[in-house]
Amino acid sequence: MTRTRPRSVPAHALSLLSLLFLAATTPAYAETYHMGLPNQPVKPSVVDTTVAIEVEPLAPGVYAAKMSYVWTGWVELGDGILVIDTGFSERGAKALADTIRARSGNLHIRYVVNTHAHLDHTGGDRFFATLGPTFIAHANAAEEIQHLLTWGSEEAEAGDTLTHSGVTPPPVKKVTKRTSFGGAKRPVQVLSLGYPAHTAGDLVVYLPKQAILFAGDVVSNRSVPWMVDPGMDVDGWLKSLDSLLTPAFKIETLVPGHGVISRPGQAGIAFTNHYLLDARAKAAQGASWGSRLDQVKDWGYLGAYDGLEFYSEVHFLNMRRLYNQAKGIKTPGRKNTHAIKRT
Ligand SMILES: [Zn+2]
Repeated sequence: MTRTRPRSVPAHALSLLSLLFLAATTPAYAETYHMGLPNQPVKPSVVDTTVAIEVEPLAPGVYAAKMSYVWTGWVELGDGILVIDTGFSERGAKALADTIRARSGNLHIRYVVNTHAHLDHTGGDRFFATLGPTFIAHANAAEEIQHLLTWGSEEAEAGDTLTHSGVTPPPVKKVTKRTSFGGAKRPVQVLSLGYPAHTAGDLVVYLPKQAILFAGDVVSNRSVPWMVDPGMDVDGWLKSLDSLLTPAFKIETLVPGHGVISRPGQAGIAFTNHYLLDARAKAAQGASWGSRLDQVKDWGYLGAYDGLEFYSEVHFLNMRRLYNQAKGIKTPGRKNTHAIKRT
């Protein structure tokens, strides 16, 4: 598929359509999605321009950094820095770049690996592009990221740093199986697990010597995963989690896309595995018992996950998608996740 500039319009239209679909099938007592400006004037207040970044050093030269609700990270390679995901905004990316400099000095940002194309993980790419890295993504995500770097997105601020810099980002390097970076001290493997999972184009970043895995959204730990992407595939996702449990991976520390760091890695992998199975079984049950989709809040309740991060925002969207899937109904899906929590 060739994607040119107007591509963002149908993508936006699609998500708008799915919101309209939600509105049409949402009963009066359920929550309403407000689009556009709020009805009430917002109280004038000072705009909060600070971005909270929580840094967790994992090993010498290896850091995880949580920006609001999304994990990013970086690795010192010796001849530069490899960054894993860039968060959801230009403002966040600037703060992340400052944080990297404060911890690792003025090394060149040589690579940016995007674990997948969702905007909560790529929203800072345009800022990082001004620092001159090579972007690395799964072959199935590269085109979308290239589009973001070249044209921006409907959510990118007009006239951002990249627009003013005159920098033209080079082609995104595509990974279909694996690629490796780093020297003997800190080798880094960027891997596709071989199946569509959270999206049709997921990558994980593995440091075998340090037994650290940056899993992107293939793993959410103590946080409800987003299962609504058009390319999401539950079977492939479960197989991907299985491969992370094989002896090929020794994972003492697992940095998920969302939630909390898992030590050992198996705990986070098991959490995601259980949620996928529980959600799919519940939706299949709802569909086969003839439960109505508009009563998803009743029959779709999964008490074990109630109260966890994104339960109220995401769980019932997942249930709708899985219910339709169980009935053989194809839905357009929604790409850009967690918009509800964006600030
Ligand atoms: Zn995410």
